[in-house]
Amino acid sequence: MLNFAVGPVQMDEEIVKSAAQPVPYFRTQEFSSIILQNESLIGKFAGIGIGYRTVFLTGSGTAAMEAAVINCFTPKDNVLVVNGGNFGQRFADICEIHGIPYIDLKLKYGEVLTEEHLKKYDNIDLSGFLINLHETSTGVLYDLELVSRFCKKKGVFLIVDAISSFLADEINVNNSGIDVLILGSQKALAVAPGISALVLSPKAIEKIQNGTIKSLYFNLKAALENGERGQTPYTPAVGILLQLNYRLKQIDTIGPEQVIAATKALAEDFRSRISKLPFSFFSSSMSNAATALVTNKISAYKIFEILKNDYGIWVCPNGGELKERVFRVGHMGALSIKDNHILVEALKEIILKA
Ligand SMILES: *Cc1c(COP(=O)(O)O)cnc(C)c1O
Repeated sequence: MLNFAVGPVQMDEEIVKSAAQPVPYFRTQEFSSIILQNESLIGKFAGIGIGYRTVFLTGSGTAAMEAAVINCFTPKDNVLVVNGGNFGQRFADICEIHGIPYIDLKLKYGEVLTEEHLKKYDNIDLSGFLINLHETSTGVLYDLELVSRFCKKKGVFLIVDAISSFLADEINVNNSGIDVLILGSQKALAVAPGISALVLSPKAIEKIQNGTIKSLYFNLKAALENGERGQTPYTPAVGILLQLNYRLKQIDTIGPEQVIAATKALAEDFRSRISKLPFSFFSSSMSNAATALVTNKISAYKIFEILKNDYGIWVCPNGGELKERVFRVGHMGALSIKDNHILVEALKEIILKA
């Protein structure tokens, strides 16, 4: 299968091969050095400053979203959630479940966050800001500059879910004043699902240390403490941490800027090819990680099914009210310009036959 899904994404052959190794025992010096190297490389690529830490959780990206919220906020807080799709809604749901007061800044699907939206909260007391940098369900990339400026001006604690944008779009944790950056293994990091990571600012670490969280598994205090010696409190997804190590070293050799540039080039090549076909772009602000396409002629869900069953190609269908109209094409992972050509030729044939 040729994988243009937005996650899990097409994995590099070498990483797939490395995944066939037996899983080692992990309470060892050798495995500790793998975790410490993962932490150091992620920090380097995220542009951390002094005193930042990265911890790993075994669980998909949502686990890290929930851990971030419950370790950093309490019912005494008031947070703003940018809710432009499924992943924004997930932050709102987490706040709801844990009784954390939140304001739901609801955007229409595909809508871009603007200065006008944020102005309304200039005089409202906020202690936190939650955003998915790339709202993967609609392909919208939010303006991190804008959000960063707003949070710095108001002194608001900023949590950014970058699960599908880290290493696809430019992010610098230190410059943007991000307090918690959330990552997941199966999107832009392009390994198997199961590991999520949180890059924590000194302010976030302090909040976690002083918190009294009611959770055993998601207690990041324990993760920070164990992480100091390159360990995790409980058995991690050892195999995926090894895949991640392989991948991070690969990125370090290529250079993170080059990885972002290659993803951007792939996205731009696809968008220029597809513009000759009867599709339109769902949003005016797109991440390099994915393109959400609107189809008026053929059902979007049908296109997903035909590509999967007749061509051996995965793209991502949308759900709910967008099911028949929108589908998404990912540009993360081990894809090439040649793969874009294959996908666009398949779409051409599907349209001709429709
Ligand atoms: C995929 C994704 C998640 C997490 O989803 P999981 O299925 O829990 O891995 C969270 N946020 C964004 C923006 C995502 O793309």
